[in-house]
Amino acid sequence: MVNYIIVTGGVISGLGKGITTASIGKILQLHGYKVTAMKIDPYMNFDAGTLRPTEHGEVWVTEDGGEIDQDLGHYERFLDINIPKYHNITTGQVYSAVIEKERKGKYLGKTVQPIPHVTNEIKNRIRRPADESNWDFVLVEIGGTVGDYENVLFLEAVRQMKQEGERVIFVHVTYVPMLDALGEAKTKPTQHSVKLLREIGIMPDFIITRSEKPLDNVRREKIAMFCNVHEDDVISNEDVDNIYAVSLLFEREELCKKILRKLNLRKDHNDLEGWEKFIKKIRTLKNPVHIGIVGKYFDIGTSQLSDSYISVIEAVKHAAWNNNVDPQISWIDSKEFEKDSSKLRNLDNLDGIIVPGGFGHSGIEGKISAIRYCRENGLPYLGLCLGMQLAVVEYARNMCGLMKAHTTEIDKKASHPVIDVIPEQVTILQESRYGATMRLGAYPAILKKGSIVQKLYDSEKVSERHRHRYEVNPEYVEKIERSGLVFSGRSPDGILMEFMELPKHPYYVATQAHPEFKSRPLKPSPLFDGFIKAAKKR
Ligand code: GLN
Repeated sequence: MVNYIIVTGGVISGLGKGITTASIGKILQLHGYKVTAMKIDPYMNFDAGTLRPTEHGEVWVTEDGGEIDQDLGHYERFLDINIPKYHNITTGQVYSAVIEKERKGKYLGKTVQPIPHVTNEIKNRIRRPADESNWDFVLVEIGGTVGDYENVLFLEAVRQMKQEGERVIFVHVTYVPMLDALGEAKTKPTQHSVKLLREIGIMPDFIITRSEKPLDNVRREKIAMFCNVHEDDVISNEDVDNIYAVSLLFEREELCKKILRKLNLRKDHNDLEGWEKFIKKIRTLKNPVHIGIVGKYFDIGTSQLSDSYISVIEAVKHAAWNNNVDPQISWIDSKEFEKDSSKLRNLDNLDGIIVPGGFGHSGIEGKISAIRYCRENGLPYLGLCLGMQLAVVEYARNMCGLMKAHTTEIDKKASHPVIDVIPEQVTILQESRYGATMRLGAYPAILKKGSIVQKLYDSEKVSERHRHRYEVNPEYVEKIERSGLVFSGRSPDGILMEFMELPKHPYYVATQAHPEFKSRPLKPSPLFDGFIKAAKKR
């Protein structure tokens, strides 16, 4: 029978609940259990596709084309599994399903109410993974913090699941602040947040405390006493140097053993060694590799910055670790190059440049100049989606004599639209139907024999995830290739350009896809791996 671990949060948001959930999953998995995870987002958006990255972090793309909260990315990376889009539940999805059923008369004349109709809809959705596959554990992370109006029905639904006899463990993640002036860690916010949870009818089985330093015994006893849990069930989750080490911290706290004990399950397997070795190795890497990410989602301060490109950052790390170098990532705002082109020379201090995915006008010309600088100066370059489109624009302008080349995303009337919308997108854009209408999810590509990308993937047929509306315009392919750029991967029908490269450059590779979504800590993405190898050589 499936076991549910429900993860709620208290005190403040941004505690790393996603990492905590993924790490609980990881430790159970390392002890031999089949684990998957789900994320509940209480917002009204149907999915994360229309959310601005600076507002809510990166939009994660699943194999089946879901546009999801970035936490699903953590789950996939930690657990090394593909997670389908229905593992993300939002208020928008739940309500639209309930209203649709009501319109079809499915509730047989009943008054349709938040309880039981909305909560039943939520429970059915939470149960779906276990209905479809034999998971030992399904972790369910509920977004937001306890006390928010918007997650009340989700909490009610999971409370009912336990009451109905399902095997449910409640984990509450809270914050224990350290007040400098007092020099003391304070447990009161935790006490208040657990009080709110108990008012809803949920008794936490475990309280996981996020804090700067390990939780001491005095605080542990206090939390146990006032939150009505056993001391052993207060788990310290202090800051660590690397997110992948959190699961080992939980092992130190014997969290897996304690969860299993509560569920009368036995621990009959221990596969921790490989993971421990991996953490040990990345902690000792000394030789740095300096990678610059030229982006634009920086406008609201540095704290949000990394979240907008989290999968790109993780993919750089995975590849760097695989090549025994310590990744040092710098953020480069492309608008700087538009103001002062002499700043381009600063790129020489780096070992490799990435232009990641992006939308809209701002900073475009700065990105194009950075790409040109990489091409002309033998600086390793990796272009991801928009990063490929702009590399094509740059090449067309400066190597094919098409000075007016552009993408029609920026210049609708470009005289040389080298990047253009695919025909099926035209009416979608005219009708402003923006939600879930891009080219989304996994698509296959056929790689050119003997090309750089084919060697990196060690395969002629690959599949990567996509999220875009624009493509290389087939009308310009021949002209561009005649000037030396190689489109080394295409869609199986040969119409869409999926990969490109410059054969004589140390590393100048780009893709229309987002290979960062398939990079895993112990299995780096081939394109990132090749990029880091070239950067390391520099
Ligand atoms: N804005 C571009 C497009 O829609 C690129 C998107 C991306 O980089 N993911 O095609």
